[in-house]
Amino acid sequence: MGQPTVLVAEDEPKIAQLLVDYLVQSGYRAVVVADGARVLAAVTIEQPDVLLLDIMLPGRDGLEILRELRRRSTLPVIMLTARVEEIDRLLGLELGSDDYICKPFSPREVVARVRALLRRSTSAATTHPFEVDDAAQRIRVAGRPMPLTHTEYRLMHALVSHPGRVYSRDQLLDLMHDDLRDVTDRVVDSHIRNLRRKLDDLLPGQQVIHAVYGAGYRFEILEP
Ligand code: CA
Repeated sequence: MGQPTVLVAEDEPKIAQLLVDYLVQSGYRAVVVADGARVLAAVTIEQPDVLLLDIMLPGRDGLEILRELRRRSTLPVIMLTARVEEIDRLLGLELGSDDYICKPFSPREVVARVRALLRRSTSAATTHPFEVDDAAQRIRVAGRPMPLTHTEYRLMHALVSHPGRVYSRDQLLDLMHDDLRDVTDRVVDSHIRNLRRKLDDLLPGQQVIHAVYGAGYRFEILEP
């Protein structure tokens, strides 16, 4: 694979330039498209490996662009949004975006996410140490059984089955099917804490459940 190409769909020139500078410094080829109506054509012409897609674009809305793109392509997409609250709504729409980044962002963080996404899309087929036995509702990690409550199993099963997918706390709450009378976001966080503790026994020092700021959690095995 040559130099990976990142298509930056962003209409604010300063932000676009900052992203391009960081991407180029990090060894990527970066192409900017500022007009929403030109994004899909640019995807066809540039054949990018990742699309950074701002939601508020002139010409055509980022969400509409993503919806149309997904009819014909699995190109990894990172949505850029100006509002944290919007991420929850986006997750609910299940448009098939691979990641979300909220403005203002650090360009370094964006490059790290691009790198993670490329690694994920090129090594999706490689094996990971998690085995899910849905019939027995058990999960083995590196050959050893992970002790799990029923609720923890549901959460782990969802996370492990969709590496890289961001789950909002609301979505994780729905999965838990617990007594919902006094369940809050904090219950999710406390289950995640317990899962991390158990995982640390099985995979010492390796973080696989990642918090996504303003959004929720995702399961991902990062290479050392
Ligand atoms: Ca914009």
